[in-house]
Amino acid sequence: MDAKAVAVLAAGSPPPRAVVGRAVNTKVSDRAVKVVVSVTERVAYEVRQTVEPLGFSVRFFNSSQRFDRAHFGSGDTMVRDVRWTQEDGEVVRLDVDTHLQWGWGYAAGYDESGNFFLEIRRPPDLTRGDNVLAGRKVVIDPGHGPEASAVGPLGTTERDVNLAIGFALEGLLAGEGAEVALTRRNVDGPGLGDRPWIAYEAKGDIFVSIHNNALPVTADPAETPRGYMHFYYHPQSRRLAEAVTAAYHSRHPDLPDEGLRWGDLAVCRGTFMPAILTESAYVILPEQEEKLKSPSYQKRLAGSLLEGIREFLKDYQRLQKRLPEERAAAAGR
Ligand SMILES: [Zn+2]
Repeated sequence: MDAKAVAVLAAGSPPPRAVVGRAVNTKVSDRAVKVVVSVTERVAYEVRQTVEPLGFSVRFFNSSQRFDRAHFGSGDTMVRDVRWTQEDGEVVRLDVDTHLQWGWGYAAGYDESGNFFLEIRRPPDLTRGDNVLAGRKVVIDPGHGPEASAVGPLGTTERDVNLAIGFALEGLLAGEGAEVALTRRNVDGPGLGDRPWIAYEAKGDIFVSIHNNALPVTADPAETPRGYMHFYYHPQSRRLAEAVTAAYHSRHPDLPDEGLRWGDLAVCRGTFMPAILTESAYVILPEQEEKLKSPSYQKRLAGSLLEGIREFLKDYQRLQKRLPEERAAAAGR
């Protein structure tokens, strides 16, 4: 959050109360459709998103509504309907329905004029060529740095393995014509909370945080098979995590599949693009550390991540080719 956007009230002040409305407008740009709502105060809000179909419910707390206008921007092929209701004495709910099945991410907040905005990203247009990776922007986040995180018995650090896999993935993606941004390129790394912002600023289409696993000292490493697990947070990221899991399943019979995971993780909560966190193997288990420190195995893992990303995009390409509404809402049209 921008410090300039924060105003500290005197102790004992009542929380701000807002009138939400009277107008809601949708505005179309190349990359997004912005739903802008006038409010008299910046009150706390909550955004909930569903997919299949893509829709949003925004709850404004300590608010009352007095809507009497909705203005749908010309050329808006995404928003199907906007409705509002006073849920109870304290909560105003704004529902935004879309013509889309799948979401590519969103941003929400208050703009400089104090209006609330929900910026719904238009999906990339994947129907223009066969290579779904060409022109995509992928943000790779090699986990940790400067701290080493887990260290294996041979002295291998999770930090260094993550970076090596990140570089290998960068090379493979660049070879497919994708644009790549890394959140770090050496042992130093930005803070955890800054990493989703780097991806937002880079306007990434996909965010992949690369990690490797460890266990708490009290855990028995032999209690259960240990291998890979991939995390998502938002519903639009689930299929990406599934596709990466499937790629590992077919390409790494040597590693146990610990299953798909939902996780409340800072790097997965960034809302502006599908985002996952991958744990390929355990740096603290000797036989897996051997693999992780080998450049050829690092490249193999990067190849599996590439495969998962490609399959996720191809899946969406099929949907986009099948559904005219999905195609019409794509970016840059
Ligand atoms: Zn980690």
